[in-house]
Amino acid sequence: MKCQDCGQTLRKAEGDYLAETKELGSVRVPKIRWLQCPLCKGRYLPAGEITKVNNYIKVTVAQYLAACPISQFVSATKAGEILGVTKQAFSKNQRIKHGFIYAYPMDGKQYYLKESVQKFKETGDGRVPLSLAVHEPVASMKRSMKISRLALNPAEPSVHALAAGRAG
Ligand SMILES: [Zn+2]
Repeated sequence: MKCQDCGQTLRKAEGDYLAETKELGSVRVPKIRWLQCPLCKGRYLPAGEITKVNNYIKVTVAQYLAACPISQFVSATKAGEILGVTKQAFSKNQRIKHGFIYAYPMDGKQYYLKESVQKFKETGDGRVPLSLAVHEPVASMKRSMKISRLALNPAEPSVHALAAGRAG
């Protein structure tokens, strides 16, 4: 398998993968395998490893939300009031369903981070940086975070997804 950009033969690599996220900035994801171009350092992640990265980010975001004080969350009714829509319209909104407002389940109901609802109202994207929303830092989380310029972004040319059947 060769690099799509410069034709070099890719080499196997594995280790911590630094993913750039809207929610948490750079997240260090442990034990990820990828193929790397020795020349341009372009990285090719197999689909299964991308899933692992995405799941790790999801779990980490949930842990951050769990660390936010309950007083920072509002019900769907209250969140709808803030946005000036009914609870029904709020719950049916596709962008909200897709995580543009941080939601956290408690007692079988969804609750929404107030700051995230406010940001959604202003910009249409309520994904505020969670490291700022958590006022009491989670010690184990802090240790796994590191600032880096490396990114996991579909638009980033140096990171390629390996489509099924295209490898080899
Ligand atoms: Zn290359």
